[in-house]
Amino acid sequence: VAAGVREGVPGSPGSAVGPIWTLPASVLAPVERSGATVDEAIAALATAAAQLTELAATRSAAGAGEEGEIFSMQSAMAQDPALATAVREAAKGGADGVAALIAAGEAQAALLASLPDEYLAARAADIRDVASRAARILAGTTIPLPGRPVILVADDLPPSVSAEIPREHLIGIALRAGSRTAHAVILARAAGIPCIVAARDLEVDGSLDGVEAILDGAAGTLKLAPSSGDLASVTAAQQKGAADSARRAGLRGRPVVLSGGSRVHLYANIGSAEDAARAVAVGADGVGLLRSEFLLLDREAPPDEREQTRAFTKIFEVLGSGLPLTLRLADIGGDKEIPYLRLPHEANPFLGVRGYRLAMIKDRPDLRALFASQVGAALRAAAATSGVLRIMAPMISVRAEVDDLLALVAAVRADLTGRGETDAAAYPAAIGIMIEVPAAALTVADLATGLDFVSIGTNDLTQYAMAADRINPALVALQDAAAPGVVALLRAVAEGAAKGGVEVGVCGELAGTVSGAKLLTGIGIYELSMDPAAIDEVREGLLGA
Ligand code: PEP
Ligand code: MG
Repeated sequence: VAAGVREGVPGSPGSAVGPIWTLPASVLAPVERSGATVDEAIAALATAAAQLTELAATRSAAGAGEEGEIFSMQSAMAQDPALATAVREAAKGGADGVAALIAAGEAQAALLASLPDEYLAARAADIRDVASRAARILAGTTIPLPGRPVILVADDLPPSVSAEIPREHLIGIALRAGSRTAHAVILARAAGIPCIVAARDLEVDGSLDGVEAILDGAAGTLKLAPSSGDLASVTAAQQKGAADSARRAGLRGRPVVLSGGSRVHLYANIGSAEDAARAVAVGADGVGLLRSEFLLLDREAPPDEREQTRAFTKIFEVLGSGLPLTLRLADIGGDKEIPYLRLPHEANPFLGVRGYRLAMIKDRPDLRALFASQVGAALRAAAATSGVLRIMAPMISVRAEVDDLLALVAAVRADLTGRGETDAAAYPAAIGIMIEVPAAALTVADLATGLDFVSIGTNDLTQYAMAADRINPALVALQDAAAPGVVALLRAVAEGAAKGGVEVGVCGELAGTVSGAKLLTGIGIYELSMDPAAIDEVREGLLGA
């Protein structure tokens, strides 16, 4: 039996005890097998339906009702005889099972897309998704589910894959690749799942399957075949953790005022309506970062403005009318790929056309329309709920991009007026940008004109300042937002914001640790946005300072 300790880097705190389950490498490989028969394709649809029904049940039971509804609707689609008929039709034309499934999904999607009802038309993406799930099953690249609580071991865990694994079966995550600020880790932290990354010696070939282990998210270690003494100390640590949590929960609702009299606002970074509920539960002062990409991932076509309006409205409703919602426009590119947007391959995606740069590509009016639809949906949702709206653009480097953002917002308002939606057209929204690029950090006073706020993304700012890819596990030592070179940039942003007369905050991971929060308040930054799971501890740390 494998034994010993696999050393990694802390990703998400907490400890877990249980058997190891390895995510098969084939999950990450593309569908390519052909030669399957039409009957096998129909059987794959039935398997997809069963999987989706199970997903729906587990997500609903976990309190994610909206996700559950989507999966059960998809399950019904997989069982629709019309889809099976379409598969047989496609196979008559000579297509093999996999190709017939894809073609049938496309045909059914085209039918739905042609309907005058916007809601039904939007279901086209769902049916394509169902067909490709069945195709994955047929090609043997389905995402297998562990079926019991496990510590997941993998080379990496893309967000789209982690979404498929029932939360209650995922008690811990140990990755050979990854870094503290990779999106898989941010999701794990949001879900409260202990996680370690960059465990270079971790076996990901399945040889550890079934081995009992202790995952220590704070220490960054995975201990194989632990002794009874090890297990006892985990229990003691878990008890201390529970006592800490209870004490910190007692501080919720207490405003954070530093000894010098400065008030600190603790905001939440969220990626869904469920996260918003978590933020409210821990007494967040609002949302400092909504990663709106959650609406764009895991689908086959972009969402329309109506669907986005519904999603943003839901979040405003969860927050209530008093708490601000800072909605970040789509931050695609870098490590967040969206196949249906058909973006060209880039040699250096983190230095490529990412974030707001996508809104400004000359020959891609569809992408500009996507950003415009986000702004429109945000204004409509805020107007409908009397929400406090802040709109923020990611990856800004120069003044021309700020001017473009202001023009985009003005154009959306004019368009809403033209559509007779005067409430939304005139609804107030603070406009801001993320400071993630050193060039922007050094010129905030100039970028500030016309804006209300800036928010520093220390995750990206650090990778660009240190020339250290945020997802490269070999560079953990350089991925340090408290390094002197990064802190000098943070000071420059604080000064530039004061000069330019805009609010300044931080929404990178640095704000979500007690030491990081103290560092930031020490240089005069009092708007801190972090994972909802970090708020209680940071509040206690600052109150005790
Ligand atoms: C950041 O870069 O610090 C940030 C908050 O944005 P993201 O992590 O989504 O890139
Ligand atoms: Mg960023």
